[in-house]
Amino acid sequence: MTYPNTQLFIAGVWRDAADGKTLAVFNPATGQEIGRVAQAGIADLDLALVAAQLGFETWRDMPPIERARIMRKAAGLMRERAGAIGALLTQEQGKPLAEAKGEAMAAADIIEWFADEGQRVYGRIVPSRGNVAMRQMVLKDPVGPVAAFTPWNFPINQVVRKLAAALAAGCSMLVKAAEETPAAPAQLIRAFADAGLPSGVLGLVYGNPAEISNYLIPHPIIRKITFTGSTPVGKQLAALAGKHMKRVTMELGGHAPVIVAEDADVALAVKSAGAAKFRNAGQVCISPTRFLVHESLKNEFAAALVQYAQGLKVGDGGTDGTQMGPLANPRRVTAMAEFTQDAIQHGATVALGGARIGDAGNFWQPTVLTDVPLQARVFNDEPFGPMAAIRSFNTLEEAISEANRLPFGLAGYAFTRSLKNADLLTRRVEVGMLWINMPAMPSAEMPFGGIKDSGYGSEGGTEAMEAYLNTRSVAVMNV
Ligand code: NAD
Repeated sequence: MTYPNTQLFIAGVWRDAADGKTLAVFNPATGQEIGRVAQAGIADLDLALVAAQLGFETWRDMPPIERARIMRKAAGLMRERAGAIGALLTQEQGKPLAEAKGEAMAAADIIEWFADEGQRVYGRIVPSRGNVAMRQMVLKDPVGPVAAFTPWNFPINQVVRKLAAALAAGCSMLVKAAEETPAAPAQLIRAFADAGLPSGVLGLVYGNPAEISNYLIPHPIIRKITFTGSTPVGKQLAALAGKHMKRVTMELGGHAPVIVAEDADVALAVKSAGAAKFRNAGQVCISPTRFLVHESLKNEFAAALVQYAQGLKVGDGGTDGTQMGPLANPRRVTAMAEFTQDAIQHGATVALGGARIGDAGNFWQPTVLTDVPLQARVFNDEPFGPMAAIRSFNTLEEAISEANRLPFGLAGYAFTRSLKNADLLTRRVEVGMLWINMPAMPSAEMPFGGIKDSGYGSEGGTEAMEAYLNTRSVAVMNV
């Protein structure tokens, strides 16, 4: 499919920026410019804000069953178009076609789950403590127009997790998606427009991220902020939102520990955590990163992970059989080189990879580092790339305290055959999502989110709906 230029979507119309400005979009497998994306200015944002307010008033008053019908239609269109959308996503982001198509298909599931959930936003009647003629009601209402900021690693998924819950709750949403990967999220918005979503309920803009967030967050029309991205940016945006008393959901960085206990099934650990590590070239907020392996299994585990990673077919995501594509932008290649050099300087061993592949595109070898000291950067800062760092431990308590050492608390993984160990890990590992003896399995119906510096709020389950609802008390005396 030919790669298109991407326009803004404002008040139900696809349009260029008022001043005609655009930004370049590159294919990370070749480094070549493949298209342009419109760059919104303040005049465009003002139009989008007014539309979001009007869209909210229409959508809020539509019966939930009608809203669900439109959402289900959009989900169906995403499914029908998943192949074509996946091809665009691979061109702009680099991930293998199967993963890209899978992302579009998964969006349909998420939309459908929330479409149903939106019909079950119940309030309640609370008996009065005084006069029986007094009706006390607890009401759940949509918060209002939402501003959403999303990154480039899952250009569809990061948007759909936000908009499905917001729309189901009756909110409108103005999305600022990632400038580096604009076409795939535009297709998601298009599916809703084609499904008959009223004008203004969804808007889509691109531009200078800081300029847009600084304008939208304080704006009186915007009632709620939701952001997915790095912890430093999340802290800045949350501070600005706090200053203006706006409700916030923050999905930020992680540094997932993988604890391989003495009694673990090593083959299962390598298969599950290995696949998760190199998926999307490691550019995943829940990617396993700090591999903490019991001393007795250290060599066996490292050898098996190296063998697994060596077998991966790295290449252009659009080529048949590719299992790992390029990194999404040149910044990640620089970061991988820096993480590797730093680990070597601290005394780690490069068991596999550790170098760029070729000189065109952003390809990096699947990398496994062993005997990594705690001081190495890769054990402290999120690598966000295809890099596994291994170190050993002697007692499970020691592994748990290492898992909890960092300020991050997004995802964690553990492998053990013992119920006692599993229970201890469940109680003690400080993460928002823990998977034991299995790969990560996020779903629409389960809460998705972090604790500590990884953010707050959730993007799955009924908790995701709550994030877009106000709770109000109304009492009526029947005189
Ligand atoms: P970055 O911190 O510059 O940007 C991260 C995201 O935030 C991007 O989508 C960017 O457009 C957006 N952003 C940046 N400044 C903003 C602002 N002032 N207002 C609104 N949005 C803003 O880093 P990057 O180089 O794009 O990505 C690198 C790091 O970001 C990674 O190491 C990783 O920690 C983090 N990241 C996390 C996720 C995630 O899923 N949680 C996704 C992508 C990137």
